[in-house]
Amino acid sequence: MALPPPSSSAPLFELSGIEREFTLGQTLIRALRGIDLTIGRGEFVAIWGPSGSGKSTLLNLLGLIDAPTRGRITFDGENVLALSDNALSDRRNHKVGYVFQSFNLVPVLTALENVMLPLQIQGVPSAQAQQRARTWLGKVGLSAFEGFRPDRLSGGQRQRVAIARALAGEPQLLIADEPTANLDSRTSHEVIDLIEQLNRETGVTCIFTTHDPRLLGRVPRQLRLEDGLISEDRYQDTAREVHA
Ligand code: ADP
Ligand code: MG
Repeated sequence: MALPPPSSSAPLFELSGIEREFTLGQTLIRALRGIDLTIGRGEFVAIWGPSGSGKSTLLNLLGLIDAPTRGRITFDGENVLALSDNALSDRRNHKVGYVFQSFNLVPVLTALENVMLPLQIQGVPSAQAQQRARTWLGKVGLSAFEGFRPDRLSGGQRQRVAIARALAGEPQLLIADEPTANLDSRTSHEVIDLIEQLNRETGVTCIFTTHDPRLLGRVPRQLRLEDGLISEDRYQDTAREVHA
C-alpha cells in the first residue's frame, strides 16, 4: 500500500530505535516504544492518533526540543544526540520554525513585529527583517492586518501570523503541534490548506500533529501513532493538483 517517499535525495530525518520514557513518581511512562522513521526533504507529514499516543513527544524530538531515552536521530546529516547545547540552539534558531496550538504571539507586538521577532533574534537588520516579515504576512493573506495586535485578530488570523513568523527565517523544517486545536472546523481546514500550500511553494518540510482524522484529506503522508508506536505509515495520492 505504501508508495516510496517522493524524493530520493538524502533524507532530512532518520530515526532508529527511538524510545522516550518519563518517570512520574514511581511510574515509568513509555511514551515512545521504538520508532524507526525516515522523513525526506520537502515532505508534508501528519502525525495523528488519539490523545496520549505520543504525538507531542515525537514532535518535540523532531523539533530538537527534547532528547530520546534511547535511539538515534539524524537531522540534516547531523547526529542530533552528539550536538552541544549551543549547536542545538543554533539549529533550532536557523533550521526549525515552530507553530503551537495556542499561537504564542507576543501580545504587545503588532502582527508585523511578531513576524520580525525571530528574524531579529537571528541578527537580520531591522529594515530587512521588516521587509521579509511584510512578504510573509502577504503570503499568509494578512497584509492588511500588519499593524494589528493579536487581541484584534481572530484565532485563524493569529495562527496565520504564527505560521508567517515560523517560516520567515526560511527554516528547513516547520513543526506544528496541534495547530488547529483551538480553531473551529472550517478554520482548521483553512490553516492546514495554508500549510500545505506553503509546503508546496517553498519546499519546506512540514510536520504537524492532530487527533482529528478529518484534517488528513490533503496530507500526502500520514503517520498514525498508537500507544507509543507507529501503527500505520501511509502515503496517499492527494488532491494536490487541485491547487496547482
Ligand atoms: P499526545 O500528544 O499524543 O496526546 P504525548 O506525547 O503528550 O501524547 O504523551 C504521551 C504519553 O507520555 C502520555 O501518557 C503522557 O501522559 C506522557 N507524557 C508526556 N510528556 C510527559 C512528561 N513531561 N512527564 C510525564 N509524562 C509525560
Ligand atoms: Mg499532544
